[in-house]
Amino acid sequence: MHHQEILHSFNDFNFKSQLLKGIIEAGFKIPSPIQIEAIPYVLGGHDLIAQAQTGTGKTAAFALPIIQNLKNSGSIEALIITPTRELAMQISDEVYKLGRFCNTRTVSIYGGQSIHRQVDLLKKCPQVIIATPGRLLDHLRNDRMGNFSPSMVVLDESDEMLDMGFLDDIEEIFTYLPSYRQTLLFSATMPLPIKNLAKKILNNPKIVKIAATEATNSDISQRYYIINEHEREDAIVRLIDSETPTKTIIFTRMKKEADNLSHCLKARGYLSGALHGDMEQRDRQQTIKLFKQGDIDILVATDVAARGLDISDVSHVFNYHIPLNSENYVHRIGRTGRAGKKGIAVTLATPLEFKEIKRITENTKAKIELYEIPTIAQTLKNAHSKLIAKMLTTEISDEALRLYEQLSEEMETSQLACKLLSVLLNNHAISGPNKIGLNKEDLAKIKNSLLRYNKKTTTDRRRGGFRGDNGFGRKHSRSSDKRHKPNRSNR
Ligand code: AMP
Repeated sequence: MHHQEILHSFNDFNFKSQLLKGIIEAGFKIPSPIQIEAIPYVLGGHDLIAQAQTGTGKTAAFALPIIQNLKNSGSIEALIITPTRELAMQISDEVYKLGRFCNTRTVSIYGGQSIHRQVDLLKKCPQVIIATPGRLLDHLRNDRMGNFSPSMVVLDESDEMLDMGFLDDIEEIFTYLPSYRQTLLFSATMPLPIKNLAKKILNNPKIVKIAATEATNSDISQRYYIINEHEREDAIVRLIDSETPTKTIIFTRMKKEADNLSHCLKARGYLSGALHGDMEQRDRQQTIKLFKQGDIDILVATDVAARGLDISDVSHVFNYHIPLNSENYVHRIGRTGRAGKKGIAVTLATPLEFKEIKRITENTKAKIELYEIPTIAQTLKNAHSKLIAKMLTTEISDEALRLYEQLSEEMETSQLACKLLSVLLNNHAISGPNKIGLNKEDLAKIKNSLLRYNKKTTTDRRRGGFRGDNGFGRKHSRSSDKRHKPNRSNR
């Protein structure tokens, strides 16, 4: 452990003291895995392919050695190409933050800003240029970059540039770059066109790869409930009644399902709204606004619509169905437990879907615990203790005092208190059947009957009466954990 600590310190990179000061001021304590792996190669002058997602500290993995290597030669020494203006600004902030005691001078170049202004900025001898491909190419084609010969070039978010159709621009940009240079290619995924690009622009690159850790946030308590297929809606409603969340996002698989569930919740008196891709952009924004303001407190959303949604006080995320893969699971539950707050992630599953829970647990290394859906009596008890706790901690407002004085002339205090409690509890009438979902005994029964079934089929097989897997039977492939696009929620 001690050995590891020594190895994993920013001091190990032999950075200059002003850079170390910047690192400390930025609040970085220890280098992240991508930094540990990539920085020595970059400092050693190698070309590099780095496969890492946003959030791994990849920006500093290239920014730190760039700043370390700057010689103040009076010309542009490093070029960072990134797909969007937002990312360019993010990178520029990071380079500024880390390099401020080294007086690192950067200029960002992106579309939408005045060309003249950029040309003026370029005249001020920046050391590092952070550029989006289109505008950079425009400057290069029109010979506005002066004596442009950066010795370090970074392609950031390469797969995203591919998706945005920038690959031809990138190739053209490289025709303007000196052949004697160090090139670093960063990408979350490595599709074939990126591999081919890497072959063209990199020279004998080192390769580092940070596994897409789907590690989930430990501030999120993760639970699953086993229910029957027809009980999904009742289960959600019961859990909302018993948990009294501040804000909830319920994920559905389909747009229609999001609409239907939101409708049903509204009909039952909950403040709910749907969010999915078939809605007009304006309606989507309006729904998000209502949710942020608290005018609705339940958002029923599909994966795509809720991706990247950053709302700080979502206490509960519900998976109406199990998400299609672990990556979606991590995205979904990451909508809660934000900004250091605690969150609860609930997944509903039928007995048949249990193996999917197991698969997600294995892939994400998360601890997802089995819970039972509370009965009406338990729900009432929960709701009551929450009400009592709230009453004990609520301060008496002037308005309440005035109302009390007015009412106390009309009735006894105890009568008044009971009437008030009845008003409060009326809002909390618990609906639905008493027992929803399967409890531990039900699950034990299922397990036993499965065991009996397995024993029977094994015996049948021994007798030769079962042709399940005798070489002819097709093996069913498990539903694969398809990997879609990486988490880009930080943008
Ligand atoms: P990135 O993956 O480059 O988007 O970085 C994600 C965030 O982590 C940024 O806000 C960085 O400032 C921060 N960060 C990068 N490296 C470290 C580190 N070693 N320690 C703490 N925070 C870091």
